[in-house]
Amino acid sequence: MEKVSLKGYIRVPQHQLAATEAELERHIALTRAEAGCLSFAVTASPRDPLCFDVAETFVSTEAFALHQQRAQSSAWGALTRDFQRHYEVSGLDPVAASNAQYMLQALKLADAAGAAGEVPVGAVLVRDDEVIGQGFNQPIAGCDPTAHAEIVALRQGAQDQRNYRLPGSVLYVTIEPCLMCVGALVHARVGRVVFGAREPKAGALLSHSWIDQHPTNHRFEVTGGVLSDLCASRMSEFFAAKRR
Ligand SMILES: [Zn+2]
Repeated sequence: MEKVSLKGYIRVPQHQLAATEAELERHIALTRAEAGCLSFAVTASPRDPLCFDVAETFVSTEAFALHQQRAQSSAWGALTRDFQRHYEVSGLDPVAASNAQYMLQALKLADAAGAAGEVPVGAVLVRDDEVIGQGFNQPIAGCDPTAHAEIVALRQGAQDQRNYRLPGSVLYVTIEPCLMCVGALVHARVGRVVFGAREPKAGALLSHSWIDQHPTNHRFEVTGGVLSDLCASRMSEFFAAKRR
């Protein structure tokens, strides 16, 4: 895994300078506390009293994507959203970056499932860089044993495209799909499946490779382990809360 580095500056409007300085220390402390942060510095620029030089390094594209998401939704992100900035990023893996971006969307859907008392699994279906279907696990609410996140997203995507086949689409799901969902993904002719955490019992892609053991008329690429810690912790926290 390649490290990701960012270098550049942010320019603060005069009337926001005091507010920025007040928030800066907390932003630095929170960022340095992130698991994937190797270094992070924001310092007053010697060239311009309204500029701050930024230099940061993260262990991987995934860690960098997680940092960006946290920072954007923080008080610092809200304050500095419209500030002028110039950054140069090196080491970014574009596929890993889009995997992480869509997995973060799928995690939001997993949270919606968890909040409704359903097992927290979320899925996003993407074609040509556009989200065409989204779903979260909802078999209890729908009295529907097939209402897994993947199936809900596939149904929405197929309606969106007015086509029961979805070649070239990519399904992002927080947990390794089960046998039923793998079957549906084959029927839909998706091009690639990206999942977060493995499901050792019911996972039918890598944990138990159904496709390898059975002849199918379609195969898709599989990428597992994207933001897997976050995806797995959603599940373990959900079941721990149920036991309490
Ligand atoms: Zn399933």
